[in-house]
Amino acid sequence: MCTDVAGSAGDETSHGHTSDHGSETIGRVAGRLPGMGSSGSRFPDSGTFSSMRALITGGAGFIGSHLAEALLARGATVHVVDDLSTGAMRNIAHLQGHSRFSYSIASITEAGPMEELVDMADVVFHLAAAVGVQLIVESPVATIETNVRGTEVVLELAARKRRKVLITSTSEVYGKSTKLPFSEADDLTIGPTHLGRWSYACSKALDEFLGLAYWQEKKLPVVVARLFNTVGPRQTGRYGMVVPRFVGQALSGEPITVYGDGSQQRCFGYVHDVVGELINLMNSQEAVGEVYNIGGTEEISMLGLAEFIKERTGSRSDIVFVPYDEAYAPGFEDVSRRVPDLRKLNALTGYVPSLGISGIVDQVIEFARTQSG
Ligand code: UDP
Repeated sequence: MCTDVAGSAGDETSHGHTSDHGSETIGRVAGRLPGMGSSGSRFPDSGTFSSMRALITGGAGFIGSHLAEALLARGATVHVVDDLSTGAMRNIAHLQGHSRFSYSIASITEAGPMEELVDMADVVFHLAAAVGVQLIVESPVATIETNVRGTEVVLELAARKRRKVLITSTSEVYGKSTKLPFSEADDLTIGPTHLGRWSYACSKALDEFLGLAYWQEKKLPVVVARLFNTVGPRQTGRYGMVVPRFVGQALSGEPITVYGDGSQQRCFGYVHDVVGELINLMNSQEAVGEVYNIGGTEEISMLGLAEFIKERTGSRSDIVFVPYDEAYAPGFEDVSRRVPDLRKLNALTGYVPSLGISGIVDQVIEFARTQSG
């Protein structure tokens, strides 16, 4: 049973090159903390994180930075590693100066710098990845290499040091399955290899296989979380994510670009809920060796979303339809519906989404307004 479901929580993740900056900030983490649970395991089994040192790969990304905040709020010591490829210093600027926070600018694919960071941590939240459908279609080599190689490095080092790892995966692994809602044990229905989009699903599915194999074969405690369209303040629309894109377009009066006919539907997960559940999964012995969906349950079409955001912002933007071939690449295949089955997570942690799409959209609008103002 999860022991830390109470308490309030404080893409996009990112990957990535080393700099001298890194060793300077690594040096700010003084001493080793035990991080021992009462069972004698080095993994916490009580409701407190006060003695936990967490490493967050991709911690300067959208989700990673919210996770860092939530862990700090629970008393943990947090170290972030990020190469700033899709993450940004502005996401963690407000955490600098916090006595339990430090960061390194480094690539997770380089075992040298990563070894010291994994060594200094008790647990590893592995969020670093190439994310965003647009980025994946444009840079398939980087996507595959970062996602596969990065996870190999993290798991290999974690196994050497016996550090518990939470791997963030994606609802994209379900592919174009039409069996709704998507449950963790369902078959994955991924498209052909000549369509670049599916390389993301395959790379993350391989990460899951590898993580679960480390648990089965080497007894390294690994948990897998499949995130369903996580959204909230700080997410950027630069890599394709629809909510910040529509909000940015609406606020600037540019056309709101609905891809395809806009009938495709998504359920959006609120980032504060999502990071709370990542922490709960890390804190649960029962979750080890398991896969969990995390997301929201309220479905909305992309045309409905565009209309809602236009109305909520009071925008005079036109809503325009852009063919998939133009938006992404010839032959692009979209997923028409994606709904998470949350029963497994709910049974473990009692999880129920705290915010529906209108509340999330309002927060994204408010954030975007503070950025532009
Ligand atoms: N989308 C859209 N206009 C945009 C960006 C995205 O209509 O400017 C659509 C996209 O085709 C998909 C949905 O919004 O059907 C969600 O896209 P996103 O990239 O946020 O996440 P995905 O579900 O594709 O991983």
